[in-house]
Amino acid sequence: MTIENTAELTGFAKLGIIGPLLKTTAAAGFDQPKPIQAEAIPSLLDGLDVLAIAQTGSGKTAAFSLPILTKIIGLGTKRLPKTARALILAPTRELAVQIEDTIRVLTKGLHVSTALVLGGVSRFSQVKKMAPGVDVLIATPGRLTDLVREGEVNLSDTRFLVLDEADRMLDMGFIHDVKRLAKATHKDRQTALFSATMPEEIAALAEGVMKKPVRIEVAPQGTTAAEIKQSVVLARTKQKRKILSTMLADEAMRQVMVFARTKHGADRVTRDLERDGFEAAVIHGNKSQNARQKALNGFRDGSVRILVATDIAARGIDVPGISHVINFDLPDEAESYVHRIGRTGRNGADGTAITLCDPAENAKLRQVEKIIRMKLPVAADHLGEPDPQSAPRAPGARAPMEAANDRAAPRGEKQQRPQGQKPSRNGFGKKQAAGENGGDKPMSRKPFRGKRKGFGGRKPATRAA
Ligand code: AMP
Repeated sequence: MTIENTAELTGFAKLGIIGPLLKTTAAAGFDQPKPIQAEAIPSLLDGLDVLAIAQTGSGKTAAFSLPILTKIIGLGTKRLPKTARALILAPTRELAVQIEDTIRVLTKGLHVSTALVLGGVSRFSQVKKMAPGVDVLIATPGRLTDLVREGEVNLSDTRFLVLDEADRMLDMGFIHDVKRLAKATHKDRQTALFSATMPEEIAALAEGVMKKPVRIEVAPQGTTAAEIKQSVVLARTKQKRKILSTMLADEAMRQVMVFARTKHGADRVTRDLERDGFEAAVIHGNKSQNARQKALNGFRDGSVRILVATDIAARGIDVPGISHVINFDLPDEAESYVHRIGRTGRNGADGTAITLCDPAENAKLRQVEKIIRMKLPVAADHLGEPDPQSAPRAPGARAPMEAANDRAAPRGEKQQRPQGQKPSRNGFGKKQAAGENGGDKPMSRKPFRGKRKGFGGRKPATRAA
């Protein structure tokens, strides 16, 4: 079959994607556009702003990348130093790396340059990469804010801006950096905003950074992929370790992500799994970038069957073939449940999500059910079983480790704001998020105050000088 035939079959040609990209798209195995692609690509090619409610796994990366690449390829290779033609902002390093991987696949053999600007790794190579200017810059907001402020990156020529997983950037305290960075780009830019959920703050952000956006919603807000079988297992926190190990003994659980609410919780679950004879990798914000990438690579290549993760570290992770997601505990924010279970059931594959719920977590479970608009079926109820650790403890003895799981996390440890609490404006949430994101600092950067003009103002050229 010729490339042209393949292209006709793929349906991407009908959306307006051009020749060389059709070839790479077909080579990537994208046979037919996914709904988000079918909806977003024509509007973006028409130069319109797009506001899309879409989850990870929906195919959103290609939905925004293909039109941007189509336009960039037409511009030739002349670039201004330190500039980026397109900027894609993502909440986590893992997601940013993944986006760059996708773009590299889609531009294989084409002259499109990319750069990654991320916290937690040396800035030297990033500055060097940016020096001649690039076509597509993928960045986390904290580090990019630093490099822009230091004059190492100049966004004044950036005419394409993508805010990916905007709700998560909000949760992580990046919203002010995002706004500032958006302001530093070219005023006639085209903007696309992708978010799995649309809280008020994101709607307001969209209003501020976009011009009459086309609104796209591929799945109703907060609903979960239909392919995922979801259930809840009622169990006391103390029982969870044993229940998890029993579940994992079943080899039908081919590749499993286990979610824990806190970093310590994730470490504890991993340790217990190892003690129970399982091999598991763990990923959270206290791990170095190398350790995180190693854990992820092992999980991705199948050498590690179980990956334990916290919510934020797991954002955007795209590992095809995850058969099961187990929520060792419920997330503080019901919306995180949607993100968690979205790790499985990708690309139409079957997926199963099981949530272990202690009675103390019932309120959180109800919030989840409200958001997904369904009652989760109870797959098993262990509450009536004898308590495995009910033997009286000596006075003053420490509570079993597991019990800590449902207590408020130690300082600096919680990843999500408590339910009902407004996103912090006092830097509290930001500080926590900075830890989880391992060094990409979403802090209010004081130097901006005095230098608004230099960054947030309308004259980025002055700043660069
Ligand atoms: P994303 O939501 O961008 O993370 O994409 C989720 C997964 O879908 C990735 O593994 C992509 O490689 C894959 N994908 C994206 N578009 C298509 C398509 N049109 N056909 C098949 N797979 C796709």
